[in-house]
Amino acid sequence: MVKGGPRAQGRTLWDVVGQQGGKVAAIGVPMTYPVWPVNGVMIGENVLVDIDQQAYPLDKTRSWAEGYLSLPSFYRLMRSAPDRFAEESLLLAERRLQILQEILNRDHFQFVMVVLDEPDRSQHCYWKHIGDNTNSLQDTVLKHYRVCDTALALLLEHMDENTSLFIISDHGGGPAPGKYVNFNVALRQAGLLRLRQTSALVSPDRFVKRLVCCLRESIYQRFSHHEVMRLKSLLPRPVKNFFLDVSQNINLIDWSQTSAYRFEMHPPSEGVMVNLQGRQSAGAVHKEDYERVRSDIIAALKDLIDPQTGKRIVREIHLREEVYWGEHIQDAPDIVLLLADGYRGGSGLDDLISEVPETTLHFWNGEHRMEGIFFAYGDKIRSGTRLPYLSPEDVAPNALYAAGISAGPSMKGHLVNDVFSSTYLVTTPINTLSLTKEQSRYLSRSENDYPANSSLSSQEEQALVERLRGLGYIE
Ligand SMILES: [Zn+2]
Repeated sequence: MVKGGPRAQGRTLWDVVGQQGGKVAAIGVPMTYPVWPVNGVMIGENVLVDIDQQAYPLDKTRSWAEGYLSLPSFYRLMRSAPDRFAEESLLLAERRLQILQEILNRDHFQFVMVVLDEPDRSQHCYWKHIGDNTNSLQDTVLKHYRVCDTALALLLEHMDENTSLFIISDHGGGPAPGKYVNFNVALRQAGLLRLRQTSALVSPDRFVKRLVCCLRESIYQRFSHHEVMRLKSLLPRPVKNFFLDVSQNINLIDWSQTSAYRFEMHPPSEGVMVNLQGRQSAGAVHKEDYERVRSDIIAALKDLIDPQTGKRIVREIHLREEVYWGEHIQDAPDIVLLLADGYRGGSGLDDLISEVPETTLHFWNGEHRMEGIFFAYGDKIRSGTRLPYLSPEDVAPNALYAAGISAGPSMKGHLVNDVFSSTYLVTTPINTLSLTKEQSRYLSRSENDYPANSSLSSQEEQALVERLRGLGYIE
């Protein structure tokens, strides 16, 4: 996931606009480290291990990239000093606003994309303080939204009659779930997962797990983000795998007798994987039994009830092809679940439901919701319209059409007529523009676009893992 992320397959919106000869700017978009050549400027997501990979073209953008330096103590503060973390988080947001302002002043762009982490980051960490007038952090989420307002004002200032503005969030926010649903327990009860041996649930494994958890917690509290990264990069791969296995209870599963197991996803989603022969290293399910096992998983999990409350845990359950498509579908879990509010997937093996520890909720008390937002504004946009339900994949074709560019055949989203004014719809036919030779330079990103040394170092990989953890994408 980490290695594939920054060098993700396919093209971004700004690659497509760049191909058509449009000048582009992309700032702080997730999964854009290391950066690649674009027809304009790109400041990659905030990883900053190697300045050369943080901005393109570096000679013109070095000062911006340096000004965007990640704060070394960021994630430690998140856990140990929430008030200082709030200050530093706002400081980082201010820096990005400065970069946005300088970039907008410098040139005229056909496409600008800036990702504002602020609502996400602040809601994860300060949700519990919203409305609590006894706490000095009660306005922290609001302050982070004010940064977004400032960015919005900045963008509006630079709009002309040809510019369309889209404001999008790919998810909503709400209180963090207080309960883990340990799906491996349900799978075990259904006979789909077996533990290594019955005594595996008693010491010494439990003792080792507790030890590893305490060690991890105290390392995070004592050392800065960069020190932790350095420490991790020094550990040999088998040691890292050991820590992962212990913390996720992977070492306790008897893989030769296991048909299906939990696949961690971000709340409110969760996945289950079939332990398939020829795909998993210790696969136990024959190819011809794949569909039967998937049906068994659905039967075992769809009506799962919380024994403490009698309420349903699983809101939706799907085969992966009902949710995902495209050439990388094989990387998705075989079954995808959407959980009811208040639950997140867990790795426990004892009880179906366990409590999320207070120590975790102390610094991580807000979590994602499925509901995002989509606003469109500008002369080409139909005003006063309430749009129908849109999916995240609808954003790209609509944003491209606003720039007069047709969506590629690989884009699954729909052009929504209600977004645009009838004048724009009539005067802007949907067709593909032909490319000049110069424009074709940006046609596709290939291996040659990357500097020879651009494969991620172990330190960079750790930095990305930490960043994803900071965004809440991994536990
Ligand atoms: Zn998040």
